[in-house]
Amino acid sequence: MPQDQVKALFLDRDGVINVDSGYIWRIEDFIFRDGVFEACQAARDMGYLLVIVTNQAGIGRGLYTEQQFHALTEWMEEQFRENGIEIARTYFSPTHPEEGIGVYRRESPDRKPGPGMLFKARDAYNIDMAASAIVGDRETDIEAGINGGVGTRLLLDGTEDTTGTRADTVVGSLADAVAWLGKQA
Ligand SMILES: [Mg+2]
Repeated sequence: MPQDQVKALFLDRDGVINVDSGYIWRIEDFIFRDGVFEACQAARDMGYLLVIVTNQAGIGRGLYTEQQFHALTEWMEEQFRENGIEIARTYFSPTHPEEGIGVYRRESPDRKPGPGMLFKARDAYNIDMAASAIVGDRETDIEAGINGGVGTRLLLDGTEDTTGTRADTVVGSLADAVAWLGKQA
């Protein structure tokens, strides 16, 4: 990896950081998954920049607003900070090509499996994509990683059938994902 570049761990949000019970936008509904802070700390210790990339079609569908999403994100990032963990940035994609309302009804390269959010992070933080990794609980996260040139893709078990996945490995938790990355080094 060139010296001026950094490696990132791209994290899907729903189903990876928090329990995905569907369209989470209230703080009281946001439940961190077990071991997330410890896993993120371990990833930071391994030199990964932490970047969250989350599809938020609930905004496009009119279920909650961008403002409400940002309020939740501020709170979430504060919980990480209180645990000593820096999240570089949380990127989100609010559109949906069929279900979106008004300006949100469109195709977007940001919506995973598109790589748009990954590329924005790459350009903002000078990320070496080949040296980076992505963790998600859906195949669209893995496809976004492939489309974005992310070197290592890890699929979290439990949300979708993982048969035929293009991920490098299937893991049971974010902690397992980070431990697996540690073994590759
Ligand atoms: Mg997810």
